[in-house]
Amino acid sequence: MTLTVRQFACLSDNYGFLIRDEATGMVATVDTPDAEAVLAEIEVSGWGRLDLILNTHWHPDHTGGNERLKAETGCEIVGPEEVRRAAPLDRVVVDGDLVRLGETVFEVTAAPGHTLGHVVYRSIKDDLAFVGDVIFALGCGRLFEGSPEQMWDSLNRIAAWPETTTLYCAHEYTASNARFALSLDDRPEMKAHAEAVFAARERGQPTVPTTVAAERRFNPFLRAADAADFAARRAAKDGFKG
Ligand code: ZN
Ligand code: FE
Repeated sequence: MTLTVRQFACLSDNYGFLIRDEATGMVATVDTPDAEAVLAEIEVSGWGRLDLILNTHWHPDHTGGNERLKAETGCEIVGPEEVRRAAPLDRVVVDGDLVRLGETVFEVTAAPGHTLGHVVYRSIKDDLAFVGDVIFALGCGRLFEGSPEQMWDSLNRIAAWPETTTLYCAHEYTASNARFALSLDDRPEMKAHAEAVFAARERGQPTVPTTVAAERRFNPFLRAADAADFAARRAAKDGFKG
Protein backbone atom coordinates (compact mmCIF):
# COMPACT_ATOMS: atom_id res chain seq x y z
CA MET A 1 0.00 0.00 0.00
CA THR A 2 1.68 3.15 -1.12
CA LEU A 3 -1.33 5.38 -0.66
CA THR A 4 -2.74 6.12 2.80
CA VAL A 5 -6.41 7.12 3.03
CA ARG A 6 -7.95 9.03 5.93
CA GLN A 7 -11.74 8.99 5.73
CA PHE A 8 -13.78 11.42 7.82
CA ALA A 9 -17.46 12.27 8.16
CA CYS A 10 -18.57 15.81 7.39
CA LEU A 11 -21.68 17.88 6.55
CA SER A 12 -24.78 15.79 7.25
CA ASP A 13 -23.84 12.51 5.57
CA ASN A 14 -20.75 13.14 3.40
CA TYR A 15 -17.38 11.46 3.68
CA GLY A 16 -14.23 13.42 3.04
CA PHE A 17 -11.00 11.70 2.02
CA LEU A 18 -7.52 12.98 2.71
CA ILE A 19 -4.89 10.86 0.98
CA ARG A 20 -1.11 10.75 1.03
CA ASP A 21 1.37 9.30 -1.41
CA GLU A 22 3.81 7.69 1.00
CA ALA A 23 6.75 7.75 -1.42
CA THR A 24 6.78 11.55 -1.61
CA GLY A 25 4.53 12.76 1.24
CA MET A 26 2.29 14.59 -1.23
CA VAL A 27 -1.29 15.05 0.00
CA ALA A 28 -4.62 15.35 -1.81
CA THR A 29 -8.26 15.64 -0.86
CA VAL A 30 -10.94 13.90 -2.89
CA ASP A 31 -13.72 16.49 -3.16
CA THR A 32 -14.10 19.40 -0.76
CA PRO A 33 -17.41 19.04 1.08
CA ASP A 34 -16.26 21.41 3.81
CA ALA A 35 -12.99 23.39 3.77
CA GLU A 36 -12.96 23.64 7.55
CA ALA A 37 -13.24 19.86 7.96
CA VAL A 38 -10.50 19.22 5.38
CA LEU A 39 -8.17 21.69 7.09
CA ALA A 40 -8.90 20.08 10.46
CA GLU A 41 -8.07 16.65 9.03
CA ILE A 42 -4.77 17.96 7.64
CA GLU A 43 -4.01 19.22 11.12
CA VAL A 44 -4.96 15.98 12.89
CA SER A 45 -3.07 13.85 10.37
CA GLY A 46 0.13 15.81 10.87
CA TRP A 47 0.62 15.61 7.11
CA GLY A 48 1.20 19.34 6.99
CA ARG A 49 0.30 20.15 3.38
CA LEU A 50 -2.29 19.96 0.63
CA ASP A 51 -1.02 19.62 -2.93
CA LEU A 52 -4.07 18.59 -4.90
CA ILE A 53 -7.87 18.55 -4.98
CA LEU A 54 -9.52 15.81 -7.02
CA ASN A 55 -13.14 16.77 -7.74
CA THR A 56 -15.58 14.10 -8.88
CA HIS A 57 -18.46 16.38 -9.94
CA TRP A 58 -19.78 19.92 -9.58
CA HIS A 59 -22.28 19.56 -6.71
CA PRO A 60 -21.58 22.00 -3.84
CA ASP A 61 -21.14 19.20 -1.29
CA HIS A 62 -18.14 18.11 -3.42
CA THR A 63 -16.66 21.47 -4.49
CA GLY A 64 -17.76 23.90 -1.77
CA GLY A 65 -14.30 24.04 -0.18
CA ASN A 66 -12.28 24.50 -3.39
CA GLU A 67 -11.86 28.26 -3.19
CA ARG A 68 -10.84 28.43 0.46
CA LEU A 69 -8.50 25.42 0.29
CA LYS A 70 -6.79 26.83 -2.80
CA ALA A 71 -6.38 30.21 -1.08
CA GLU A 72 -4.94 28.64 2.08
CA THR A 73 -2.65 26.02 0.55
CA GLY A 74 -2.03 26.94 -3.09
CA CYS A 75 -3.05 23.41 -4.13
CA GLU A 76 -3.89 22.49 -7.73
CA ILE A 77 -7.56 21.72 -8.46
CA VAL A 78 -8.31 18.92 -10.92
CA GLY A 79 -11.75 17.82 -12.08
CA PRO A 80 -14.29 17.70 -14.88
CA GLU A 81 -15.16 20.93 -16.71
CA GLU A 82 -18.59 21.06 -15.00
CA VAL A 83 -16.90 21.96 -11.69
CA ARG A 84 -16.59 25.53 -13.06
CA ARG A 85 -20.36 25.88 -12.64
CA ALA A 86 -19.78 25.98 -8.88
CA ALA A 87 -16.12 26.49 -7.99
CA PRO A 88 -12.61 27.25 -9.23
CA LEU A 89 -10.82 24.58 -11.29
CA ASP A 90 -7.23 24.58 -12.63
CA ARG A 91 -7.04 21.47 -14.80
CA VAL A 92 -9.85 19.79 -16.69
CA VAL A 93 -9.76 15.99 -16.91
CA VAL A 94 -11.67 13.67 -19.22
CA ASP A 95 -12.07 9.91 -19.56
CA GLY A 96 -8.75 8.10 -19.83
CA ASP A 97 -6.62 10.92 -18.40
CA LEU A 98 -4.00 10.18 -15.74
CA VAL A 99 -3.53 12.35 -12.65
CA ARG A 100 -0.38 12.01 -10.54
CA LEU A 101 0.01 12.55 -6.82
CA GLY A 102 3.71 11.95 -6.32
CA GLU A 103 4.26 8.34 -7.43
CA THR A 104 0.57 7.44 -7.24
CA VAL A 105 -1.25 7.47 -10.56
CA PHE A 106 -5.01 7.89 -10.79
CA GLU A 107 -6.84 6.86 -13.91
CA VAL A 108 -9.86 9.01 -14.71
CA THR A 109 -13.04 7.21 -15.77
CA ALA A 110 -16.07 9.12 -17.01
CA ALA A 111 -19.18 7.99 -15.12
CA PRO A 112 -22.14 10.16 -16.18
CA GLY A 113 -25.65 9.79 -14.78
CA HIS A 114 -25.76 11.56 -11.41
CA THR A 115 -24.30 14.57 -13.26
CA LEU A 116 -23.23 14.58 -16.92
CA GLY A 117 -19.56 15.29 -16.20
CA HIS A 118 -19.06 13.02 -13.17
CA VAL A 119 -15.67 11.27 -13.11
CA VAL A 120 -14.16 8.68 -10.77
CA TYR A 121 -10.50 8.20 -9.87
CA ARG A 122 -8.83 4.80 -9.60
CA SER A 123 -5.33 3.81 -8.56
CA ILE A 124 -4.78 0.40 -10.13
CA LYS A 125 -1.62 -0.18 -8.10
CA ASP A 126 -3.44 0.47 -4.82
CA ASP A 127 -6.57 -1.43 -5.95
CA LEU A 128 -8.89 1.37 -4.88
CA ALA A 129 -11.12 4.04 -6.35
CA PHE A 130 -12.92 7.20 -5.31
CA VAL A 131 -16.36 6.98 -6.84
CA GLY A 132 -18.13 10.13 -5.64
CA ASP A 133 -21.89 9.89 -6.04
CA VAL A 134 -21.96 7.23 -8.78
CA ILE A 135 -22.10 4.06 -6.70
CA PHE A 136 -22.82 3.83 -2.98
CA ALA A 137 -22.72 0.82 -0.71
CA LEU A 138 -25.94 -0.98 -1.77
CA GLY A 139 -27.03 2.04 -3.80
CA CYS A 140 -26.29 4.51 -6.55
CA GLY A 141 -26.60 8.24 -7.11
CA ARG A 142 -29.84 9.88 -8.15
CA LEU A 143 -30.20 10.71 -11.84
CA PHE A 144 -30.14 14.50 -11.68
CA GLU A 145 -28.73 15.07 -15.17
CA GLY A 146 -28.12 11.83 -17.04
CA SER A 147 -30.30 9.05 -18.42
CA PRO A 148 -30.79 5.62 -16.86
CA GLU A 149 -28.82 4.15 -19.78
CA GLN A 150 -25.84 6.40 -18.99
CA MET A 151 -25.91 5.50 -15.29
CA TRP A 152 -26.30 1.79 -16.08
CA ASP A 153 -23.17 1.99 -18.27
CA SER A 154 -21.29 3.92 -15.58
CA LEU A 155 -22.17 1.38 -12.89
CA ASN A 156 -21.10 -1.45 -15.14
CA ARG A 157 -17.74 0.16 -15.84
CA ILE A 158 -17.13 0.09 -12.08
CA ALA A 159 -18.49 -3.44 -11.71
CA ALA A 160 -16.01 -4.61 -14.38
CA TRP A 161 -13.02 -3.66 -12.22
CA PRO A 162 -11.33 -6.45 -10.22
CA GLU A 163 -13.57 -7.70 -7.39
CA THR A 164 -10.93 -6.78 -4.82
CA THR A 165 -11.13 -3.08 -5.70
CA THR A 166 -11.96 -0.92 -2.68
CA LEU A 167 -14.64 1.68 -3.42
CA TYR A 168 -14.69 4.92 -1.45
CA CYS A 169 -18.20 6.38 -1.78
CA ALA A 170 -18.95 9.99 -0.88
CA HIS A 171 -22.01 9.45 1.35
CA GLU A 172 -23.21 7.25 4.20
CA TYR A 173 -26.58 6.15 2.81
CA THR A 174 -26.13 2.44 3.40
CA ALA A 175 -28.82 1.71 6.02
CA SER A 176 -31.54 3.28 3.86
CA ASN A 177 -30.11 1.54 0.80
CA ALA A 178 -30.16 -1.78 2.66
CA ARG A 179 -33.86 -1.40 3.47
CA PHE A 180 -34.57 -0.88 -0.22
CA ALA A 181 -32.34 -3.82 -1.19
CA LEU A 182 -34.28 -6.08 1.20
CA SER A 183 -37.55 -5.09 -0.51
CA LEU A 184 -36.24 -6.64 -3.76
CA ASP A 185 -33.97 -9.42 -2.58
CA ASP A 186 -35.01 -12.09 -0.08
CA ARG A 187 -31.86 -14.22 -0.20
CA PRO A 188 -30.60 -15.15 3.28
CA GLU A 189 -27.16 -13.72 2.48
CA MET A 190 -28.76 -10.39 1.58
CA LYS A 191 -30.55 -10.38 4.90
CA ALA A 192 -27.33 -11.18 6.76
CA HIS A 193 -25.47 -8.44 4.90
CA ALA A 194 -28.20 -5.89 5.69
CA GLU A 195 -28.19 -6.90 9.36
CA ALA A 196 -24.43 -6.29 9.50
CA VAL A 197 -25.01 -2.83 7.99
CA PHE A 198 -27.71 -1.95 10.53
CA ALA A 199 -25.53 -3.17 13.41
CA ALA A 200 -22.52 -1.15 12.22
CA ARG A 201 -24.65 1.99 11.98
CA GLU A 202 -26.08 1.42 15.45
CA ARG A 203 -22.51 1.30 16.75
CA GLY A 204 -21.81 4.52 14.86
CA GLN A 205 -19.38 2.82 12.51
CA PRO A 206 -19.04 3.74 8.82
CA THR A 207 -20.11 1.23 6.16
CA VAL A 208 -17.82 2.91 3.61
CA PRO A 209 -15.57 1.84 1.95
CA THR A 210 -17.09 -1.14 0.16
CA THR A 211 -15.70 -3.42 -2.55
CA VAL A 212 -16.60 -4.35 -6.10
CA ALA A 213 -17.20 -7.91 -4.85
CA ALA A 214 -19.74 -6.83 -2.21
CA GLU A 215 -21.58 -4.54 -4.62
CA ARG A 216 -21.74 -7.15 -7.36
CA ARG A 217 -23.21 -9.54 -4.83
CA PHE A 218 -25.67 -7.26 -3.03
CA ASN A 219 -26.19 -3.89 -4.76
CA PRO A 220 -29.78 -3.96 -6.13
CA PHE A 221 -28.83 -1.61 -8.98
CA LEU A 222 -25.91 -3.73 -10.19
CA ARG A 223 -28.18 -6.77 -9.92
CA ALA A 224 -30.69 -5.28 -12.38
CA ALA A 225 -31.21 -7.40 -15.50
CA ASP A 226 -30.68 -4.57 -18.00
CA ALA A 227 -30.93 -0.79 -18.42
CA ALA A 228 -34.74 -0.85 -18.37
CA ASP A 229 -34.80 -2.89 -15.17
CA PHE A 230 -32.20 -0.52 -13.70
CA ALA A 231 -34.41 2.47 -14.62
CA ALA A 232 -37.41 0.86 -12.88
CA ARG A 233 -35.36 0.14 -9.76
CA ARG A 234 -33.95 3.69 -9.65
CA ALA A 235 -37.49 5.13 -9.96
CA ALA A 236 -38.75 2.78 -7.24
CA LYS A 237 -35.93 3.85 -4.91
CA ASP A 238 -36.76 7.53 -5.51
CA GLY A 239 -40.24 6.87 -4.14
CA PHE A 240 -39.24 4.32 -1.51
CA LYS A 241 -40.21 5.07 2.06
CA GLY A 242 -38.40 2.55 4.14
ZN1 ZN B 1 -23.74 14.79 -5.94
FE1 FE C 1 -22.93 14.34 -2.93
